[in-house]
Amino acid sequence: MRTTCIAFLVGALAVVPSIDGGIVEPETTVPLIQDVDVLVIGGTCGAVAAAEGAAQSGAKVFLATPGLCLGEDVAGTLRVWAEPDEIGSSDLMGRLFAPAGQEVAPATSRIYTTPLRVKKALDTTLLKAGVRFLTGAYATDVLSDASGLPAGAVLCDRSGRQAVRAKVIIDATARGRLARLAGAEFTPFPGGAYSVSRVVIAGSAPECGGTVTRHDEWRPDKDVVQLSSKTTITPGLYECVFPLPFADGGPRAFAEAEQAARDRTFTATQLDAADRVCFIPPDHVKSASPCAKERATADELNLGALRPAGIGGVYVLGPLADVPRPLAAELARPGFAIRVGARLGRQAAADAKSRTITGEIRRAGREGHGAAADVREVRGTLTQPFVAATGTIPCEARELPVLDEVDVIVAGGGTTGAPAAIGATRHGLRTVVVEQLHELGGVQTAGMICGYYYGNRRGFTTEIDEGVAATGKVKSQSKAEWYRRTIREGKGSIWFGSMVVGAWLEGTRLRGVIVATPDGTRGVIRAKAVIDASGNADVAAAAGEPTEFYHPEELIGQGVGMAVIRLGAGGHNNDFALIDDTDASDLCFFGLRTRLMTEGGWDVSQLVNSRERRRLVGVFQVSALDYLTARTFPDTIIQHRSRFDLHGSPSHDFFYTKNIRTANHVTLEANGPYRSLLPKTTDGLLVVGLGMSATRDAMAIMRMQPDLQNQGYAAACAVQLALARGCELRDIPVRELQRQLVDKGILPESVLGEEDSYPLPDAVLKLASHDVMMGYGGLPFLFADPQRAKPLLLAKYEELSTHSSGRDPEVSLIYAHVLAMLGDPVGVDELIAWVATHGWDDKWPADSGARVNRMESYVLALGRAGSTKAVPAILAKGQELCDGKKSVSASRCRALGLASVTLGDPALAGMLASLLDQPGIAGHAIRLADPIPPVPGYDSRSNYSQQEKMEVAREVNLAAALYRLGDHDGKARAILDAYAEDPRGFCANYARRILLDPAGRGTSPR
Ligand SMILES: Cc1cc2nc3c(=O)[nH]c(=O)nc-3n(C[C@H](O)[C@H](O)[C@H](O)COP(=O)(O)OP(=O)(O)OC[C@H]3O[C@@H](n4cnc5c(N)ncnc54)[C@H](O)[C@@H]3O)c2cc1C
Repeated sequence: MRTTCIAFLVGALAVVPSIDGGIVEPETTVPLIQDVDVLVIGGTCGAVAAAEGAAQSGAKVFLATPGLCLGEDVAGTLRVWAEPDEIGSSDLMGRLFAPAGQEVAPATSRIYTTPLRVKKALDTTLLKAGVRFLTGAYATDVLSDASGLPAGAVLCDRSGRQAVRAKVIIDATARGRLARLAGAEFTPFPGGAYSVSRVVIAGSAPECGGTVTRHDEWRPDKDVVQLSSKTTITPGLYECVFPLPFADGGPRAFAEAEQAARDRTFTATQLDAADRVCFIPPDHVKSASPCAKERATADELNLGALRPAGIGGVYVLGPLADVPRPLAAELARPGFAIRVGARLGRQAAADAKSRTITGEIRRAGREGHGAAADVREVRGTLTQPFVAATGTIPCEARELPVLDEVDVIVAGGGTTGAPAAIGATRHGLRTVVVEQLHELGGVQTAGMICGYYYGNRRGFTTEIDEGVAATGKVKSQSKAEWYRRTIREGKGSIWFGSMVVGAWLEGTRLRGVIVATPDGTRGVIRAKAVIDASGNADVAAAAGEPTEFYHPEELIGQGVGMAVIRLGAGGHNNDFALIDDTDASDLCFFGLRTRLMTEGGWDVSQLVNSRERRRLVGVFQVSALDYLTARTFPDTIIQHRSRFDLHGSPSHDFFYTKNIRTANHVTLEANGPYRSLLPKTTDGLLVVGLGMSATRDAMAIMRMQPDLQNQGYAAACAVQLALARGCELRDIPVRELQRQLVDKGILPESVLGEEDSYPLPDAVLKLASHDVMMGYGGLPFLFADPQRAKPLLLAKYEELSTHSSGRDPEVSLIYAHVLAMLGDPVGVDELIAWVATHGWDDKWPADSGARVNRMESYVLALGRAGSTKAVPAILAKGQELCDGKKSVSASRCRALGLASVTLGDPALAGMLASLLDQPGIAGHAIRLADPIPPVPGYDSRSNYSQQEKMEVAREVNLAAALYRLGDHDGKARAILDAYAEDPRGFCANYARRILLDPAGRGTSPR
C-alpha cells in the first residue's frame, strides 16, 4: 500500500491512503451553477452562522453540504443540549433550542432541543439570509484561477458534478479536505486510539467499554415519543465516551471507526443513535497565526488561526483550526462555533470584496500513471432556483485514488442492498456496502416503513425477521442493527455517509464504482461485481444503460413521503408529493419543505420515501401484463406478491380500458425473471430493488419489502455463482441459481420446471377475443399481444352482424372500444355516438366491476383510434366541463388532454385553454422563497395529502397537451415557463422537457 498525493495546487500531501494503481480520469468539463463571493462547505451550526454573517455583510453566498440536512454537529451527533452560558450567546443559539414560536428563557441548567428543531432553525436562518444551499453535495475538488489561487469548488451529488466559482471558501467539514486540496498544510494524523463520544437514546445504558453518562435532566416532550403500549421503555439520553482506534486520517479508517463505535454502543432498547461520533481530531491546519491559548472566548479567538498559512481565500471552521486541542473542543460546541462562524462570515465577505479572480478558472489536473480510464458519472438535473450561473469549467485529467478492492460492491444498503450484502458475505465474498445514510435498511428503517405489506414472507426474509426480533425492541433500530451486525460478522465493510457517484468501465465491463466519501474524497472502489441497490439504478445509469422514469406522454408519478420520526414509533407512512430522485435540488428542496411544514415530532427522516424511481431498461422488462396473464419464465428467481399498490395513476392503457382484474382487494403474483436484473450491455452489474427492469405498473406488485429482501439475497447468490465459475453474470447457469433459492426457501420447487409461457398460444388469444364480449374478460391477453389480437378482434367484430338475434349494441361497443384502444378506428362511429349522447357521469352498470369511468375511457379510446371524426365529439365533451356544470376533474382532463394530443387537431387547443381558465385549475407553480408554501393538507401525523399532486399534474398535463397542439395565446408556454422555475424538480424537469421538445415521444400512443 502507498499513500497517493492527490492535492494538486501546491502539491501538499492529502490524507487519502490509496491502494496501488489509481486510475486516470480523462479531462472533462462540469457545468457552472453558482458564481458567489463566499462558498461555505459543510452544514454545521458554525457553517450556517458563517453563511448568514457573510450574507448580512452584503456577500453573495452559497452553502453545500454532503449531509442530507443541516446541523450535523448537533442533530447528527445527537448532542442536543446546551449549557446555560451557551444559550444566550447568539440569536441563532436561542432559535436552535427554543420550541417553535417561543423564546428560551435564561437558564440555570442544561437545556435540550430536538434534531428537528435544530434543522429547522438552520434551514430558516439560511432562507431568511437569502443563502441558497444544496444538501447531499460533496465538495470533492478545488477550482483555481489563472494565478493558481483557489477560486471555488466542484460538487458531486445525485445530479452529477457542478462547479461553484467563489472568491472565498470556508471549509467547515470534519476533515478540511477542500482546504487540503487547496494546498493547506496540516499536522499529521497519527494512527492510534482516540477518545470519542457517541450519544444513544435508549431504555438502558449501552455497555461501551468506557464511561456512560445518563443525562437525567433530559425529559423528552410527549410529542416526540410514540411507544406502543406493549413496549416498556423509559427513554434516556446516554453519552458514551470510549477510546476508538483510527488506522489513519483517511476515509476507510473513519468508515471503520464509525462501525466500531456502533458495535460498542448498540443496546436492545435503542430508540435512536448518533449518525456520527463526536471526536476532536489530533491534526489541525497550519496557519501563520496559531492560537497558543488553551482557553479563549469566541470573540477573542484570532481568525488568523482559521486561515491556512500561505494560501489566500480559504478558511477552516471547526476543530481543525490551528488552536490547542482544548480550544478545538470548544469549536465543536454550537454556541462557540456560531459566534466564531458569524465573525468569520463577515471577514470572508470583506476578503471577497478585495479579491479578484484572475483569468479562467479550472480544476487543475495531476499527472496520472497510465492511460485514461473510462470513468462515467451519475447524471441528473438541477432545478433553476439552484442554478444561478451559466457556462462550463474545464477539469484537467487527473488520477483518482483506488480506495478499496473487493469482490462485490453493494451500492446502497437499503431494503434490497443490505440483504444482498449479507448474502455476499455469507458466500465468503469480500464485500463493501456504500450507503449514503448513516444506517442500513433504507425505506424500511430510516424511512420508517417498518411493516410489510404483502410479499412472500419466506426464505431469507424469514431469517431476517427472526434475527431482527432477537436484536431489539424497536423495529426501525433493530433491523438496521441486525443488517449491520450480520454484514460485519461476515467481514463485510460498510461505508456510511458515502455515495456511489459513477462507474468505471473497461469496454463493456464494469471494473468498479466511483465513490464520494464524507470527507469529500472522490475515489474508486475496484470490484469484480457490483450490485446496484440504490433503488434508482444509479450505477446502471452512470454506465450508460437505458433507464426510464418520466412517462413521455404525461406527468405521472407515485406519491412520495418523508417520515416524521417519533422515538419508538412503529413507523410513519405518508404520501403528499411527487419527486425526481435523480435531481439533487429536488431532494434538497423536498427535505427542506417537509421539515419546515412539520410541527412536533423528534425528527424528520433524512431519506426521501419515493415509491417510484429511475428504473433500468434491462435484458428483460417485466410489464403488468406479464403478471396479469400469469406469465412464467425459465429464469424466475423471485415470486413477488401484492395487491395493486400504485400510489397514483397507472400508465398502461389496459388500466384505462376497464381495469376489471386489478380491484384493490385482489392479491396478485408476479414472477421476477433473473434477466430483469441484468443490464443490456454492461457486464459485472446487477440492478435490484426499485431500480430493477420493470414498468411502473409492474412495480406496484413487485416492490414489496419481503420480496425485495429475498431478491437482494438472490442477487448475491448469482454473483457468487458467476465468480466461482469465472463467467459473466449474464452467463450463469440459472437453473443452478434457482436450485439454491429453492433450497433457501425463497422459491417453490415448481419454478424449476417452468418455461416462458409466451408467446401466448393461439388458442388463448382466440378465447380471449371471444371472452372479451363478456364484461371484458381476457382483456390482459389481448393487450399483451396486440398485433396478433387485432385480427381476431376484427373478425369477431364483423361476425356480430351475422348473429341470428342481430348485432348486440353493447357487445359491439366493447369490440369498438378495445379495438380503438389498440389503435384501430373501425368502431369509432359507435363510440362517437355514445359519447355524444351521454354525460360524464354515465357509468358502466354498478355490478360490472369497472374501475375506470366509462366516458373517460371512451374519450381516450377515440384519441387512440386516431380518427379526426372524433374531434367534434371531444370538443363538445370539453365544452361541457367549461360550462361549469361538471367538475373539471384530473381524470377527465387527462382523457381530454391525451385524446387531443393524439388526434393532433389544433381546433382542440381552444378547448384545452378554456379548461385551464376554469377556477382553481392554473396557478399552482411555486417559488423558492421565504416562506416556502406548505403542501395543502399536510400535517405531521397525517398519512395522505393528495391535493397538491393532483393540482400540479392536472395543470402541467393540460398545459403540455396545449403546447403540443401549438398553444393558444401563449397560455401553455407561460404555465410551463413558470413550472420550469419551480423548485419541485419533478414538475420543473417535465415542463422543461416539453418546452425543449414539444413533439417528443409524448405524441405517440403507448
Ligand atoms: C412511503 C412508502 C411506503 C411503503 N409502504 C410499504 C409497506 O407498507 N410494506 C411494504 O412491504 N413495502 C412498502 N413500500 C415499498 C418498499 O418499502 C420499497 O419498495 C422498498 O423499501 C425499496 O427498496 P430499495 O432497496 O429499492 O430502496 P431503499 O430501501 O430506498 O434502499 C436504497 C438505499 O440506497 C441508498 N442510496 C441510494 N442511492 C445511493 C447512492 N448513489 N450511493 C449510496 N447509497 C445510495 C439509499 O440511501 C437507501 O438506503 C413502501 C415504499 C414507500 C416509499
